[in-house]
This record gives sequence, C-alpha cells and structure tokens, in this order.
Amino acid sequence: MGDRAETILLFWDCPDCGHPHIEGPTKRCPGCFYWRDRAVKFYETPESRVLTAEEEAKYTNPDWICKVCGAANADEGLPVDQLLCGSCNQWQTNNLDLGNTNPDRLPTNEVVNQRPSHWIPPAPRRDPDTPPTPTTSTNWRRRIAIGALGLGGSATVWAGVTLLSPQPIEAEILARFWTVTVEVQEKRPTTDSGWNLPSDAYSVSSSTRQSGTRQVQVGTRQEKERVSYREKTGTKQECKTVSKGNGTGTRSCKDVPVYTTKYRTETKTVPVYRDEPIYDTWYRYTVDRWKQKQILTQEGQEGSPRTPPSVRLTNRPYPEQTLAPVETCWLQVSYGEKGEQKMAEWSLPCDQYDRLRRGQTAQFEKSALGGVRLLDPAKTAKEPQATK
Ligand SMILES: [Zn+2]
Ligand SMILES: [Zn+2]
Repeated sequence: MGDRAETILLFWDCPDCGHPHIEGPTKRCPGCFYWRDRAVKFYETPESRVLTAEEEAKYTNPDWICKVCGAANADEGLPVDQLLCGSCNQWQTNNLDLGNTNPDRLPTNEVVNQRPSHWIPPAPRRDPDTPPTPTTSTNWRRRIAIGALGLGGSATVWAGVTLLSPQPIEAEILARFWTVTVEVQEKRPTTDSGWNLPSDAYSVSSSTRQSGTRQVQVGTRQEKERVSYREKTGTKQECKTVSKGNGTGTRSCKDVPVYTTKYRTETKTVPVYRDEPIYDTWYRYTVDRWKQKQILTQEGQEGSPRTPPSVRLTNRPYPEQTLAPVETCWLQVSYGEKGEQKMAEWSLPCDQYDRLRRGQTAQFEKSALGGVRLLDPAKTAKEPQATK
C-alpha cells in the first residue's frame, strides 16, 4: 500500500452553546449563531469523509481572522483592501488603526484529535475549593497522653540502671598475700611441618602431597536451548491528521510492520570440566624455638618487699632466658552479704594492695566479670552504709 495523504472533512463543537459536530468549513453555529474564531479546535471523526477534487480545490488556503472582531472568514482570493468580515461587516483596511497589512490566518499543520462517532459530553469537573476540615481539640488531648507515656518510659529505664549497677561491698581485710613468678625458657629443637620452609630449618625431609584441586576442560558437549526472536507477521496502518486552518485537514497514513515473538531450539556447544588434583611439596623439619622450661615462684605476705625468685641460668644442654617477673596480689577478706558473714580470697592490682593494711575495713566493687577493685575512699565517704 505504501504512504499516502488525502484531504478530509473536520468538525468542531460550538464553545458558546455546546452544539456538537458542526462541519469544519461552516462558519456559524446552527444553535446560537456563534461565529467560529481562532479559539475553536477542529477534530476528526469516523464521519470525516475524503473531499472530492472540486471541494479540495475550494479549501486550499487557511481562513483569515477579522482584525476587528476576531471571526474566521474563508479565503476567496481577494486582495486585502477588498476583504469584508462576514460577522461584523467591517473592511480590513477601513480605518486608521487597522493598517494595510493582511490579517492573521488560522494556524495550519496543527495535529487534530480523533473522536468517536457520537459526541460525548465532558465529565463534570469537581470543585477544587473544598472547604478544609475543621480542627478539633482531639489533637491537643492526644499530645498530652503521649507526653505522659514518655515520662513513664524513662522512669522504668532509671530503675533498671540502678538495679544492674554494681553495689559497693564493705569488707574487713584478714590477711594479705603476694607472689612473684618468673618464667624460664630454653631454646630447644622443635619439629614442625608445612608447605613453606623457614630459613633456619634443619634436618629437612620433603614429600609430594595434594594441596588442592583445579578444573581442567576435557571436552565439549551439545546443549539444546530455547531462543526467542521477533518475526514480522504483518502490517498495520498508522494515520495522522493535521489542520489546513479552514475546517479541512490532511490525513497521511503509512504502513508499519507488526512483529510477533517466536521461539526456536538452538544447539550450542558447552565445555566439560573434570577436577584434577594439584600437588605440592610438604616439608618436615626441625627448628630451634624458645619454649617454657619451668616457672619459679616467690611468695610473701603483708608489707614484705615483693622480690622475684632467684634464678640461675645453666645454658646446658640448651641456651636459657627468663621473662619479666609477674606480680600477683591477694586479700583474704570477711564481708556480710544478704545477712550472712562470708570469707573470700580476692585478687586485686598490687598498687591497691599497697594502700591497705590487715584489720582495716574498706569499700570494694565487684564487676560483672567477677574482678574486684578498691573504691576511692573519698567517693564512698558520702554514702554511709547502715550497718549494725
Ligand atoms: Zn452555538
Ligand atoms: Zn469582524
């Protein structure tokens, strides 16, 4: 068929009285005698017949717009000084203000809408000025209720923190003990094994072992696959109509292809893999490493000086060294808990140990993990405990 264009009849609706479906070239509304102007929109309907060659020759130029009243008048090929408006009966050059120029014309090449055969009145529009909903005192009341709830919540949290925080314990110190330990090490031959050989290793033996696997392609295999494709299955007609500015329009149509999605089965070649072991060298060797030989302990009590145990390094059969001394301090205490008198041994930092004496009573704090620390006397003095 191919592309083609034809001149067709357009229609308009009267903007004044609503009279529908008036033939395009008609200038006046048959209902109210409204004279068509530039505000009128032409449209196409199924009744938009193709014009005869005679009609088409008659409607070549767009309508001219009256300079005085704005009415659209058909172009009959007259010069500007002979143009007389059919609506207001005024010449287009007859007074000083109008000048000698040609009047404006209705626009051409504007795309027109398509409408069904029967005219359908537009749906009534909703009034946009809906009154706002009045505010009530409910919002205000709800705000107070939320405020009260918030206060209740924070009171609960406060109680929880008080219960969970550690309580100070008042304890009497019955005795104090300390230990100082020293670890003695020797550098002795140690056997080990691994994929890597340390630089200072000796007595090395090695073997080949599997360290992993890798995938190796050993061939290919045929696989069937469903493939989609688009095929042209026909054509459809697409049309567009533009106004000629005189109640007629040019409708141009073209054939556009229609595609359908179809499927076919394709065979494709995919690789086939096999797991293959990877081999590597595994070493067994001996290295000299510092290892613990023994731990020496010195014990003492109360304020006696914390001296480390005496160590004599022999360097036979292997070289020997010592690590830094480690001090540990202990208290033997007696304290009341839930109306019961208890005895315990507590480990605590040695600088706190040094601030205490046998027979003294002091405030301690137990952490969640069970450790004990001495409370600052200045801090606990403000909270006198109710004891018997
Ligand atoms: Zn009308
Ligand atoms: Zn006029």
